[in-house]
Amino acid sequence: MKRRDFVYRAVLTGGALSLGIGCKRKIEPGTDKEVAQQVSMDKLPVRTIREPEREIPVLAETDVLVIGGGPAGTAAAIAASRTGAETYLVERYNHLGGLWTGGLVLPLLSTHAVDKKKRQQQVIFGIGGEMSKRLIDLGMSVHEVNPVVDPEAAKYVLDEMIREAGVKMLYHTWASNVIMDGNTIKGVFIESKSGRMAVLARVVIDCTGDGDIFHLAGDNYDTMNYAIGLVHRLGNVDRINKDAIGYVKKSIGNETPLKSVNWVNMWGKENQDALDVTNLSNLQMDYRRDIWNSVLDLRKTPGYEEVFLLDTASQLGVRVSRILDGEYRLTLEDTMTFRSFSDVVGVSGAWTTMLYKGRKVPKSERPCWQIPYRSLIPKKTENLLVAGRCFCFERELVEDTRIIGTCLVTGHGAGAAAGLAVKENESPRNISTKKLKQVLTQQGAWLG
Ligand SMILES: Cc1cc2nc3c(=O)[nH]c(=O)nc-3n(C[C@H](O)[C@H](O)[C@H](O)COP(=O)(O)OP(=O)(O)OC[C@H]3O[C@@H](n4cnc5c(N)ncnc54)[C@H](O)[C@@H]3O)c2cc1C
Repeated sequence: MKRRDFVYRAVLTGGALSLGIGCKRKIEPGTDKEVAQQVSMDKLPVRTIREPEREIPVLAETDVLVIGGGPAGTAAAIAASRTGAETYLVERYNHLGGLWTGGLVLPLLSTHAVDKKKRQQQVIFGIGGEMSKRLIDLGMSVHEVNPVVDPEAAKYVLDEMIREAGVKMLYHTWASNVIMDGNTIKGVFIESKSGRMAVLARVVIDCTGDGDIFHLAGDNYDTMNYAIGLVHRLGNVDRINKDAIGYVKKSIGNETPLKSVNWVNMWGKENQDALDVTNLSNLQMDYRRDIWNSVLDLRKTPGYEEVFLLDTASQLGVRVSRILDGEYRLTLEDTMTFRSFSDVVGVSGAWTTMLYKGRKVPKSERPCWQIPYRSLIPKKTENLLVAGRCFCFERELVEDTRIIGTCLVTGHGAGAAAGLAVKENESPRNISTKKLKQVLTQQGAWLG
């Protein structure tokens, strides 16, 4: 188990004791320009401070508590609530969709994959399929396969679906610790403008993307450093003048449902630690400057003068950080061989070429693949499920397991399982997977 102990680390900044990581600012010698000093976790003094014991108000006692409102968490909360379980959803930002919306990562990959008869088959159904259909109906989605959506429309649709399902939504709220009784999770401490409070729950679902909850619960996991990016959007792309003297074709990203707007992906720097807040802060500022400068250059190019930077994503593009060590680790072999699981919760597709047994298999040939329920169950913690980009998989699979389609499917599976566990008064570990598959099928999921 790798535990990072920075949460309670006290940092002396400029002579004053403060909790957390300070970003010191200094005046650069010889200039009147204030520049932010790059901070690094390694250089900070390591001290600990004991937090005094105190009474914490209990905001709610609920059946299911979902932490994180990305694609996985939104699907999980809707699925749980639709089984009749009282469900709370906690999200630190002001919108649902996670990286799909706040990260401006707009293409829903992979809605289709190759079936056993070598046909392209739709794989994303159920709650993810409903989200996609509602965005098409609003005219806020382009492309039938792997649709690219408008982020504001997606935030709206996800809000509406959460409301309709009767989920109790807590925005602007950070899950900061867990309440444990031995190996059983009893609830979560939350922080918000209303202060520190507790939400107690019969089942908790970790959809934080970074596995914050299974980490705090003391469960087992691996960590993976990977490239972190920052997506942005350009406006006025329909006003590019290709007849301008000196015009050259430039890379300006890809289309969105709004004809004047493109989204621009960024792979970013390799081998980044997404669990180091100083690293995230430094990347954020470096990338914002890089994007600003590249758009300034673009606007100086003949034909592109009217293009402008519409926005940078409000969520930094973290692809992976913690990966659960769960009851079953999904393997590359499983996804390449149509492996079927008796506890399947859904099917996903692949979006990229994969090296398998020495051969590069292009995405057009990649099979659809099943996801077993056991890959969502931690080994130690009772009453906790995990969905989204941190469920249990072999790291070779990271490109497929982190895509939005997979996150929607794992979220749907975990939410339905949590609802069933509440109904049957069972630990999620012990529910009947036959009944789980019935619930999922009733909720429109496709199990292969
Ligand atoms: C640059 C980039 C490009 C990508 N391109 C594509 C693409 O084209 N197509 C595709 O399908 N996928 C793409 N992906 C992957 C995909 O967007 C994400 O992996 C997916 O959104 C993950 O969903 P999730 O629900 O697991 O987590 P997230 O989307 O990360 O959502 C997690 C949510 O939990 C919240 N949260 C986290 N911690 C806490 C806490 N402690 N308390 C309260 N709330 C918390 C977060 O605010 C967030 O809303 C890309 C990713 C990146 C970074």
